Amino acid sequence: MKLLINGEWVKSGNENELNKYNPSTGNLYGKFPAATKDDVNSAIDAAEESFEKWYSTGSVARSKIIYKTKELIEKSRSELEKLLQDENGKTTIEARQETDGVIDQLQYYAEFARKITGEIVEGDTPSRKIFQYKVPYGVVVALTPWNFPAAMVARKLAPALMTGNSVILKPSSDTPFTAEWIVRKFMEAGVPKGVLNFVTGKGSEIGDFIVEHRKVGLVTMTGSTSTGQRIMSKASSNMAKLVLELGGKAPFMVWKDADLKNALRAFIWAKFWNTGQSCIAAERLYVHSDVYDKFLGMVSNALSKIKVGDPRNSDMGPLINKSALETTEKFVTDAKEKGYRLLTGGDKPPLQGDLSNGYFYRPTLFAGVDQKSEIFQEEVFGPVIGAMDFENEEDLYRYANDSKYGLASYLFTSDPNIIYRASERIRFGEVYVNMPGPESSQGYHTGFRLTGQAGEGSKFGIEEYLHLKNVYVDYSGNQLKIETVREDLLQ
Ligand code: NAP
Repeated sequence: MKLLINGEWVKSGNENELNKYNPSTGNLYGKFPAATKDDVNSAIDAAEESFEKWYSTGSVARSKIIYKTKELIEKSRSELEKLLQDENGKTTIEARQETDGVIDQLQYYAEFARKITGEIVEGDTPSRKIFQYKVPYGVVVALTPWNFPAAMVARKLAPALMTGNSVILKPSSDTPFTAEWIVRKFMEAGVPKGVLNFVTGKGSEIGDFIVEHRKVGLVTMTGSTSTGQRIMSKASSNMAKLVLELGGKAPFMVWKDADLKNALRAFIWAKFWNTGQSCIAAERLYVHSDVYDKFLGMVSNALSKIKVGDPRNSDMGPLINKSALETTEKFVTDAKEKGYRLLTGGDKPPLQGDLSNGYFYRPTLFAGVDQKSEIFQEEVFGPVIGAMDFENEEDLYRYANDSKYGLASYLFTSDPNIIYRASERIRFGEVYVNMPGPESSQGYHTGFRLTGQAGEGSKFGIEEYLHLKNVYVDYSGNQLKIETVREDLLQ
């Protein structure tokens, strides 16, 4: 793999490469460059130099390139789906859905070409106006996670480029190959040289340097809260605008009158989609005491039938890497030590051959979990979840809101009053009522508390990439009268 700097695919100044492993087998998948500070500098210089010209091409011309990228991806989507399976371990359905998501986002953001508007405001005196219009930040840094390695790249590149910014993309070190594939499609579609740059390498080694760079105007990052906090402190040196989409700990709430079959369908999706590695994953199951035993019985019966293994022919694939598997195992050990009731799972599946070294774990459910426990307070990000019962609405809202994260939440009930009351009281950026996720392109994906700041998707997400500028104009043609400037100074 090479880096993309100023329109050329070049070797990194550092000859030592990083390893990427196949999560289904643990075997080496490929090697990729560990970019140096000089590489990063060149990429940022190229982005800065190309910015003005790119912005001046106009939004319609820019959106044509995004549409073209979408067409190119549609034509070779099977390559992307294969990458998503091999590099990330996604099941066949997940890989298809993520590819659909990429295409949908490119289409959605390209459609904004003629929708960017500003305002004209009356000035304080006649013949004066204030033109408020939105301009790009200039150089945008996009830092992406591994869990949706294609969709997160598309969700950042498309709006950043559409609005006239130039970009440096640094993908997760767990999924550099998927990101590279998408970048190549953008370039094939006609993104001019320097406007899109691609560097790989460990965030812990080059991240600070990128984020602190004085030429960077905006940093958009999706990842963990600890990385987001570090970026926030580092970006104070250049006051870069930040879009931070961080961790989640979604409560999945089942009221006593819920349609339990529907709740079960949605729960299985919300918890085990992407092997539990989703920021909107259900991470805490709260069930009304009247239906607690019944619903948990339904859940554990269903989970025991989920086929875990080769993502090409199973219901659930592996975790992303060894460290993610170890974290999952730690949560289970801790929950067992605390004496929570293990209803199903709790170990690795017995797989043969190469797959026996893959990072697989069975869907796992604990009952009787305590609100203050680690499994209810920390992001698990794997196929393990705890459940507890509740008696009334007040308790439910108190438990649900008792989290440092505030991204997604799920509620199942047939009582319209509870739907409205809960929607008001649950302090989360997304409340899914009687339905599963994921978020739509036209929704604003955002979270409260340590989930970050700003958001993505919808016109609000597009506007994050634009700076609101104010131009004051006097068109009276009159001589100016300024009280603090004496006329005799001009004689
Ligand atoms: P991560 O470790 O925080 O990494 C995210 C990105 O930041 C990667 O590209 C990483 O590069 C880079 N990075 C790491 N340290 C950095 C630093 N000091 N400065 C600049 N960049 C740095 O997160 P992840 O493990 O990839 O993703 C999982 C997390 O993402 C979970 O917490 C999940 O909830 C969250 N997530 C949130 C959303 C949302 O929309 N809210 C969506 C998806 C995922 P390296 O890979 O090289 O370290």
